[in-house]
Amino acid sequence: MSSHIAFIGLGHMGAPMASNLLEAGHRLKVFDLVPAAVQALAGAGAEASASAADAVRGAELVITMLPASRHVEGLYLGKEGLLGAIARGTLVLECSTIAPESARKVSAAAIAVGIRMLDAPVSGGTAGAVAGTLTFIVGGAATDLEAAQPYLRAMGKNIFHAGAAGAGQVAKICNNMLLGILMAGTAEALALGVANGLDPKVLSDIIAKSSGRNWATELYNPWPGVMEHAPASKGYSGGFGVDLMLKDLGLATEASVQSRSATPLGGLARNLYAMLSAQGHGGLDFSSVLKLYER
Ligand code: NAD
Repeated sequence: MSSHIAFIGLGHMGAPMASNLLEAGHRLKVFDLVPAAVQALAGAGAEASASAADAVRGAELVITMLPASRHVEGLYLGKEGLLGAIARGTLVLECSTIAPESARKVSAAAIAVGIRMLDAPVSGGTAGAVAGTLTFIVGGAATDLEAAQPYLRAMGKNIFHAGAAGAGQVAKICNNMLLGILMAGTAEALALGVANGLDPKVLSDIIAKSSGRNWATELYNPWPGVMEHAPASKGYSGGFGVDLMLKDLGLATEASVQSRSATPLGGLARNLYAMLSAQGHGGLDFSSVLKLYER
């Protein structure tokens, strides 16, 4: 089945996701504010559009992958008013990581004009986007998710229905808050052990088979040299940037304020990554939080 898809936002994540849809045989009309990003996809077989409104004309499915809440609200609800250009009944997959409140606001505005919208933030990073193995965490109507499945399967491997509109964003934010906390905790434990004479590799092996084990000790150790393929062993290059973690922890803080939830560990983690960013490490992988414990 070949569909006509509009894809808007061709950055680090959007460009490889769009490429995977092209490879699956779909016809794509693409748009980004950066003309070079549009040209790169046009070179791979997509049709270049002059504007977002141009891209969505006649599309059966619209996908957006933008930086943050303000870009998503600006595109759909702002002066560009993309909702006015999308045909009634069209399915929209909003894949950016944004505030749940924003996702609910845009979804309600879409539904009010007969457009079906899902929030579908992703986990898996740029490597997962390139390999087509992303995890999609979806909020919205189950029937719309059913219709989106073939497209999501062309870009990802695991697809979860978190609940109603905005629930995808809530689940994504909760996961990433826990990830930020676990990475900081792992760095702290390793630094304590090393300061008390332990070999970081020996301590990591012990934790990985004991009750403190977690994703960082199993696959993504923050101590340089412990895991050959982890960003820590490559000068903290690649991986998931400190500033992206900081953004997600900021969204967690916003959600905690909104719902009057206490997230003391999330708040502490946000401050740790903010310190790291302020020291000029915003572009390094987030496991570089270990630097804050260096003696
Ligand atoms: P990016 O900054 O590389 O790409 C965003 C693109 O959107 C840019 O090319 C920008 O020009 C374009 N854009 C912005 N406003 C636009 C508009 N009004 N119309 C058209 N294009 C517009 O960001 P990214 O790394 O691709 O991330 C995209 C989203 O995915 C973010 O919300 C991010 O938090 C999330 N995410 C990123 C990663 C990652 O590892 N990079 C992992 C998971 C989730």
